[in-house]
Amino acid sequence: MSPAGSTELPRLPNHIDGRARMPLADAWIDDIEPATGRTHALVAASDTSDVDLAVDAARRAFPGWAATPVAERSRLLLALADAVEAEFDAYAAAESRDSGKPISLARRLDIPRALANLRYFATAILHAESELRVTDADAFDYVVRRPRGVAGLISPWNLPLYLLTWKIAPALVTGNTVVAKPSELTPLTATMLAEASAAVGLPPGVLNIVHGRGPAAGAALVAHPDVPAISFTGGTLTGSAIASAAAPRFKALSLELGGKNPTVVFGDVDLDAILPDLVRSSFWNQGQICLCGSRLLVERPLVDRFVDRFVGAVETLRIGDPADPATDQGALISEAHRAKVERYIELGRTLGGEILTGGERPNDLPDRVSDGYFIRPTVIAGLPADCAINQEEIFGPVVTILPFDDEAEAIELANGTPYGLAASVWTNDLKRAHRVAGRLDSGTVWVNTWLQRDLRVPFGGMKQSGVGREGGLEALHFFTEPTNVCVAL
Ligand code: NDP
Repeated sequence: MSPAGSTELPRLPNHIDGRARMPLADAWIDDIEPATGRTHALVAASDTSDVDLAVDAARRAFPGWAATPVAERSRLLLALADAVEAEFDAYAAAESRDSGKPISLARRLDIPRALANLRYFATAILHAESELRVTDADAFDYVVRRPRGVAGLISPWNLPLYLLTWKIAPALVTGNTVVAKPSELTPLTATMLAEASAAVGLPPGVLNIVHGRGPAAGAALVAHPDVPAISFTGGTLTGSAIASAAAPRFKALSLELGGKNPTVVFGDVDLDAILPDLVRSSFWNQGQICLCGSRLLVERPLVDRFVDRFVGAVETLRIGDPADPATDQGALISEAHRAKVERYIELGRTLGGEILTGGERPNDLPDRVSDGYFIRPTVIAGLPADCAINQEEIFGPVVTILPFDDEAEAIELANGTPYGLAASVWTNDLKRAHRVAGRLDSGTVWVNTWLQRDLRVPFGGMKQSGVGREGGLEALHFFTEPTNVCVAL
């Protein structure tokens, strides 16, 4: 419900059947600006009845949208991308304000990638081909792919529009209609996108956005009998709950979950050349990117020099108001999340870890953001590989340094967690790079680079980092149901 005194704040409604819809229970959640700790909007706290409305609208819109020519679906998605681009600055400012990320990052990463997602899938579908197999002179088989129906899409707060469009675009171009639930912590850009979708002429009911908390709105979407496909990005525990709810209903399920990603640095690297990438891969978005490296595995002879240079580089990062274009490090998403990260840092101290830098809140912030949820980028050494800090996802600006003696130990350490999302390997030895990449339990391995993404490649995680893959054909296939037709000759 809206708190006393905040009734004048802007309200972010749901978007159902082509128009804004207030939550039926008139319940609202504070949308807090992480950099200030102040509520800057109220977002719909939807429940089952709102989800039912949205699914009903999506179900009614489905036959028409599925029958819409592919070229027209593509045109509308491209028009949506153009509409977002026309308001690029407003989207970037909203993303930064809602999530605490530096405006420079929203401008460089989030909004460009959201545009790329829409445009990539809008054009990829124009080139999609069917499969055909000829069996001697007897028969041939071909595959017809049909949209599944209403797709339920659930996305997190760390890359709000980036991850929402990553799901919306392939679902829509393949002819599904969508009910999406963004994180209620970062609802602004999803609301803007919904308004833009109506303005460019997306038919009512094709894209519905329902805001609200996971256990209420999210769970209702997962449980809904008229939603045959669920695509989820978020934490592993939530993914497990969603898998349990979806399995008895035999829903198609794509789960992109957490990570504890290793950054493997061999002694032969040109350290100064790669340092900016190592810092970026550790601390971009305050470490709140599922692909951030959180365990720096460093070949022993390099360790001392590495610590010196890396810590020096981290200490040059400017922490401050996310709205300031010069800021490198913004705020964490919430007070609760900062408290969680601080508990891990405290545990690191208790376990005898050496805090090489950070480990505390900054005390020199500008007035506007002095109550925000900031933590200094933190580097910890001297912890065992099997302790909680090296095993569990912290999802904040905290990395550890672990030395290794040889390639075999590097691989063992890299693979030694329950996760398998992404890894990066840094070496100038070409053969070793390929050898190690092929032995890492990881959905993505970057060699001498990080977060370099071609949208055609399969993306996802092994072990507790997920089930299934997104990206390129994988996503187009996930959102379609194949029928094989066998024709006798
Ligand atoms: P959560 O798992 O807490 O939430 C993700 C989304 O699921 C939110 O919209 C959330 O709503 C919703 N949700 C929560 N509970 C349920 C439920 N029972 N049923 C349905 N939906 C539910 O993750 P965070 O938002 O905290 O995001 C951080 C996590 O996301 C990290 O673990 C990170 O690694 C992972 N991630 C993975 C990526 C990948 O590609 N593998 C990419 C980016 C992030 P609410 O906000 O109300 O809780």
